[in-house]
Amino acid sequence: MHISVFDIFKIGIGPSSSHTVGPMRAAYRFAARLADEGHGARVAGIRVELFGSLGHTGKGHGTDLAVMLGLEGEAPDLLDPDVVPGRIAKITQTRSLTLHRGGQVTFVPAEHLVFHRRERLPLHSNGMRFRALDATGAPVLEGIYYSVGGGFVTTPDGALAGGPNPAVPHPFETAAELLSRCQDTGLSIATLMYENECAQRPEAEVRAGILHLWSTMQGCIDRGCAREGILPGGLKVKRRAAAMRRKMRADGQGRDPLVALDWVHLWALAVNEENAAGGRVVTAPTNGAAGIVPAVLSYYRTFVPNADDEGTMRFLLTAAAIASLYKKNASISGAEVGCQGEVGVACSMAAAALAEVMGGTPEQVENAAEIGMEHNLGLTCDPIGGLVQVPCIERNAMGATKALNAARLALSGDGTHKVSLDKVIATMRATGADMSTKYKETSRGGLALNIVEC
Ligand code: SF4
Repeated sequence: MHISVFDIFKIGIGPSSSHTVGPMRAAYRFAARLADEGHGARVAGIRVELFGSLGHTGKGHGTDLAVMLGLEGEAPDLLDPDVVPGRIAKITQTRSLTLHRGGQVTFVPAEHLVFHRRERLPLHSNGMRFRALDATGAPVLEGIYYSVGGGFVTTPDGALAGGPNPAVPHPFETAAELLSRCQDTGLSIATLMYENECAQRPEAEVRAGILHLWSTMQGCIDRGCAREGILPGGLKVKRRAAAMRRKMRADGQGRDPLVALDWVHLWALAVNEENAAGGRVVTAPTNGAAGIVPAVLSYYRTFVPNADDEGTMRFLLTAAAIASLYKKNASISGAEVGCQGEVGVACSMAAAALAEVMGGTPEQVENAAEIGMEHNLGLTCDPIGGLVQVPCIERNAMGATKALNAARLALSGDGTHKVSLDKVIATMRATGADMSTKYKETSRGGLALNIVEC
């Protein structure tokens, strides 16, 4: 199964890929299915149930808003985040929504959107059940979907949203296979991934698409560095990127040898503050961990001599190749394996990508990815108040600098190392399976329990 760079890096809105982007895509698919199967005229109302982690933290993550807008036909990559408040106010006031390719149906959020905090559907913690009802309240159609992290959506039969999977010239399922293909062909991980992408769409489209991802990430950093105030959700978390940038500019670069780290922190904070505010974000591999790859890529563009668009493409292709290994062999969902699946994976991706553009061999790149995860094993997910703010925002800054460490450590060696990337991915999966549910995006343990919301 090939997972594309455009599957890993999806343009969407904050604050969560699994709790916002995925549910919006699921709702959109259900509404489209109603129209495709000709049920539209019979539908008078919709009922949506959210289970597991979605039931616990869906409110803080904007799942309710995402579901309503998805039913109305909005897609996360096209929706203008600024129109969301007005659209939700209209649904609430009129007690109805306009179904995608359908008519107006009754929808009272407080009654028809149910958060099940103690129940979960069998296959994954992020389960959703949609029911379309006729005028008598009888069911017209039911659909069950799972949001499995990074904006990916599956159905109970395990089908990934997005259609069939085309053949690629260099298929790989594990890091060992990826390295072996690099050795056989003499290609770097980035070039191998690039050839796989070009087997699916025209080369010009691949190039333009990847550079568009980078410009969207830059736009997110710019907005995050410009906006000030308090983040939504009631936790009263103050945005700090704008003030931090002002201070850094006023102080100048000085002689501090670690000034690059301050910039990396700033870029990561800017992205994750923008994400927490519901702004335009690129999953990398998720929204909660979306700051690490752009921050490390900005480090490359700013501080590595001769950085250019070619290097940017190689960076994102390598990061996507590494993310696909986690997606295939473990998980990129905080609700499934804790934050090691989000910030841990993003750190591993960014470490590998930086090693690649700094001239690393495939073995050094694999080593960087492995180090990036090895020291995030066991990282729990315990967001305070169910909001993607604390510890998430700062954790991205820490994850980004850890990725720099991992890349540099790997580049100082020759690529040989004790723990393979495949082994660390298997360990991450097993650790996630052993982890108490309290620490898997339910906000029932850790910081979420010990810090009083105010
Ligand atoms: S703690 Fe980590 S996994 Fe959990 S919501 Fe925050 S970034 Fe995502």
